[in-house]
Amino acid sequence: MTPSDNPAPGFDRDGVRRRYAQERAKRMTPSRGVIHDLRREEAFAGYLKDPFTPFIERKPVRDEVDVAIVGAGLAAVVVGAKLRQAGVRRIRLIDKAGGIGGTWYWNRYPGVMCDVESYIYMPMLEEMNYIPTTKYAPGDEIRRHLESIAIKYGLVKDTLFHTGVEESRWVEAGQRWIVRTDRGDEVRARRLIMATGILNLMKLPAIPGMEHFQGRAFHTARWDYEYTGGGPNDPHLAKLTDKVVGVIGAGASAIQAVPPLGESAKHVYVFQRTPSAISERGNRPTDADFSKHLHPGWQKERMENFSAAMLGLPVKRDLVDDGWTKYQARLIPPSGPEMTPEEIAARVEQSDYGVMEEHRKRIEAIVADPRVAEGLKPYYRYFCKRPCFHDEYLPAFNNPKVTLVDCPAGVEQITPRGAVANGVEYPLDCIVYATGFEAEITRFARRAGHPIIGRGGITIEEKWKDGMISLHGLTTRGFPNLFIMPAPSQQSVTTVNYTHLTVIGADHIAATIAKLDELGIAVFDVSEAAERAWTEAIVNCFRDTRDFMAACTPSRLNYEGHPEAANPRNGSYGGGRGDVFGYQELLAKWRRDDFPGWEIVKGERLDPRD
Ligand code: NDP
Repeated sequence: MTPSDNPAPGFDRDGVRRRYAQERAKRMTPSRGVIHDLRREEAFAGYLKDPFTPFIERKPVRDEVDVAIVGAGLAAVVVGAKLRQAGVRRIRLIDKAGGIGGTWYWNRYPGVMCDVESYIYMPMLEEMNYIPTTKYAPGDEIRRHLESIAIKYGLVKDTLFHTGVEESRWVEAGQRWIVRTDRGDEVRARRLIMATGILNLMKLPAIPGMEHFQGRAFHTARWDYEYTGGGPNDPHLAKLTDKVVGVIGAGASAIQAVPPLGESAKHVYVFQRTPSAISERGNRPTDADFSKHLHPGWQKERMENFSAAMLGLPVKRDLVDDGWTKYQARLIPPSGPEMTPEEIAARVEQSDYGVMEEHRKRIEAIVADPRVAEGLKPYYRYFCKRPCFHDEYLPAFNNPKVTLVDCPAGVEQITPRGAVANGVEYPLDCIVYATGFEAEITRFARRAGHPIIGRGGITIEEKWKDGMISLHGLTTRGFPNLFIMPAPSQQSVTTVNYTHLTVIGADHIAATIAKLDELGIAVFDVSEAAERAWTEAIVNCFRDTRDFMAACTPSRLNYEGHPEAANPRNGSYGGGRGDVFGYQELLAKWRRDDFPGWEIVKGERLDPRD
């Protein structure tokens, strides 16, 4: 693009900035980020209950394994499978859920599907010889796929389900991790992997009066099909025909759940604090010919093609070619020796306006009532919030049974009868909290949900209280033989396609463990110099988006409107979203060079295949 091209005719910079600032101000209420801590508040513990699998009593397990994995979601399954491929036999997985799948175990709300293309999101398609049924797979298909991987690699039988880890402790004598659980288990492991996930903590807003609601209330991550009727594969929620339902939230989960609710319920009120930017989904069945064009390694190539496109790197052909890549391409800063940084920023701002105008025009074209359409329009820049893609959500507002309650300051109160917004009480039979998760920027120690205790009794929480310090975002000094699966804001890299990051981490950890065994290395720890150097590198390339984020509508991405809270130590390798490709090369070289920056204790040669 040349500087003379105009991607957004009619763009009035000051006017747009003013409008965005006004909308932001409406949402900057002091209580917006206040949530209940479900693990500590007894009164709300019921929201965590597993509605899908009955709890089965069992005796405590005493175990001695090569690798223990905390979690049985996507990351745990992939790393477990890769370890099996590397020949590791004695593996123990532990998860609070009653089955495999993590996020995909818990999120079974009607309409749930992945917003990243299934051919790159569903892991290990080649190993499993599986082709997803549609470009964007429904949640149940993803869950069953993860279960199939776990079955194929013998992980299900090795998982302790409905089991919460209470403590992971490194014990010098014996050089083992000892993992204790809420069911009295004691798992002794030579190596420990944290695969605790990024969407594992439900966010339940602390709205006054919630505990007094007389109807049924649940979070989207614990859908009560007993109450609503229907099921994950049956969107007809037959028991709701005489029920008025309030959906609190208008993010990725809500936009998927509202259309089926609107079809089934007597009435649905959607309590929207901030409208999502929603563009076309264009889901479609997988072409009958799809697999004919595939060659070995195709999935990795496709994942890399998507990640490259999302990083603004040149790709010969955009293989995924969807809303993610389309809008990202339009927001790549133009380059040219004749352009100053200010001109580049101005041009991106103009393109951003064009992108958001398209979203707003789409709403006008779909939603019949102009007042409702106006209420659904997002007034902020594109990446201020995670964008959404859906084709049925906006049309649902043409259904007379679906009402938008536009409440920028949020729901004020829950009464025994319903919810209050903008001073009006809406009587409800059921409240669905589509209020999301403590994702990405929530500290790892909190998401891990239990004390991880290393040498000298120090916990990860204490060690990282001022921000992360690690080597590669995967290992940290004082916590020998511990791997943490890579995740956003954790000194590795960030990808929109979380599976890609997981596969990179799983391949690396499995290859590292195989090599440790080959070399007879019993214990590793990170040297102080190595983790200091890595952390300095992360801080030095921290790309400060705090100015951009400060003008954004509040969201979890900018610490609910306080981007100054971003800690450069929790950034990514390469800055910004991170250099996915450089990171992989660096890890591979580091393995080839026999782990520089690790302090190593050789033990007797241990063969996990024994
Ligand atoms: P989000 O954080 O995207 O949305 C939560 C919603 O709840 C927001 O609309 C938020 O408003 C609203 N909210 C929170 N508190 C209140 C309140 N007190 N009153 C009114 N509204 C309130 O959560 P989701 O569960 O939708 O998604 C979380 C993440 O999970 C996504 O960003 C995505 O990464 C992932 N996801 C992915 C899916 C996929 O297809 N792969 C599907 C679902 C989720 P506000 O915007 O103002 O904060």
